Amino acid sequence: MNAHMNSRVNTRTTADLQAADSAHFLHPFTDFAGLARKGSRIIARADNIYLWDSEGHKILDAMSGLWCVNVGYGQQALVDAAAKQMKQLPFYNAFFQTATVPAIELAELLAEVTPPQFKHVFFSGSGSEGNDTVVRMVRRYWDVLGQPERQVIISRNNAYHGSTMAGASLGGMSGMHAQGGLPIPGITHIEQPYWWAHGRHQGLTREAFGLQAAHWLEDRILAIGAHKVAAFIGEPIQGAGGVIIPPATYWPEVQRICDRHGVLLVSDEVITGFGRTGNWFGCETMGFKPDLMTFAKGVTSGYVPLGGVMVGDRVARVLIDKGGEFNHGYTYSGHPVSCAVALANIGLIRELKLVEHVRDDVGPYLAKAFASLGEHPLVGDAETCGLMGALLLVKDKTTGAAFADDVEIGMVCRGHCFGNGLIMRAVGDRMIIAPPLVITRAQIDEMVALIRRCLDLTLADAQRSGWLK
Ligand SMILES: *Cc1c(COP(=O)(O)O)cnc(C)c1O
Repeated sequence: MNAHMNSRVNTRTTADLQAADSAHFLHPFTDFAGLARKGSRIIARADNIYLWDSEGHKILDAMSGLWCVNVGYGQQALVDAAAKQMKQLPFYNAFFQTATVPAIELAELLAEVTPPQFKHVFFSGSGSEGNDTVVRMVRRYWDVLGQPERQVIISRNNAYHGSTMAGASLGGMSGMHAQGGLPIPGITHIEQPYWWAHGRHQGLTREAFGLQAAHWLEDRILAIGAHKVAAFIGEPIQGAGGVIIPPATYWPEVQRICDRHGVLLVSDEVITGFGRTGNWFGCETMGFKPDLMTFAKGVTSGYVPLGGVMVGDRVARVLIDKGGEFNHGYTYSGHPVSCAVALANIGLIRELKLVEHVRDDVGPYLAKAFASLGEHPLVGDAETCGLMGALLLVKDKTTGAAFADDVEIGMVCRGHCFGNGLIMRAVGDRMIIAPPLVITRAQIDEMVALIRRCLDLTLADAQRSGWLK
């Protein structure tokens, strides 16, 4: 059976697979007809930080899949953990006063690796579902406390919190809100802490701008009335929005504002969790203490789906001591195979000392490499935090002027990356990376050389096409 399946995959041509793909598979966040015309690139296998497509091309994956493969591909310990758990107990639920050993042990381990206010976890199957849980949970918290009018959740423009109804509503992506009648009621957005777009032209330093952006939160709380505001949610560093790294002044001020008005503070750590920023969680890097923390992606390094919400003592005590039944949960809350893989994954992060590796070694090394890429004529700004990095492509390096609206410079650059064996993502004019945490210095050199080549090719296109005028 297995041999038959494998040989079937191996003997199908790329063109045959592409035809079947466009005949049947509707891809996420994709223009279906546009993809059908081009045909998708089929990824066939992977090891460490590299992928191979169905034509045998080797690709350096500087995006960790979709921000998730923190321990890199091909880690046998995760494969073994999944196989062993599947044999012993592939599934049991946690609804009917039952539990499984991996779910219990993962809850215990998460309480250990997260900041000290977290002793409890609510499991989901993904980050989006985790944020749905956040919405239900913060509103339930205020209900139980006898303040049911505290319903409004404040988020930010250009945030990404997933693609379910609540996740997309919390997110601040205008393209997503334009489809499906979003956002749902009781969710409102303030401007993002993006200095280049919103602070630079006012002549503010990054630090001064960070305080200003935090005060947009206080302004909104006061406009709504603090007695109506349930929570503020944000990614410590916006990922899908283009790796927007806020000034160091931002999060501590946000914390003070939430404290002053009794508003719950929620950190969406789906990308920034599990070592990405050089600490276990992004809130530690950014210096704040959330009441709730959403996680997914890196918790299993993407090998199997898992998400959840860490519930801090402030919320947990109310829900446990006074809440009664919480009418919420997922079939796969605490899925034993996912939890077994997460246990192996966190074990490996510890064993390989990946958090320290990012903080002390490859994080600072990447920062230096990006500083040198910042000298490229096409790059207006280059920033990193841990193993997240962004390069802003500009038309004029001295003024920082952007390319004309009809020039999709990011997509041009991304095309060169695709053609040169590198996965780097474009978000507007920002080229972004988040490589696996196992990356070495030599591999960073290799990645940066590829990035430089793609920038040169993009610059040549811009010169040839007259886009620099
Ligand atoms: C990816 C992501 C999500 C959504 O997670 P899914 O597993 O895709 O549902 C939520 N928040 C952030 C910050 C993310 O990057």
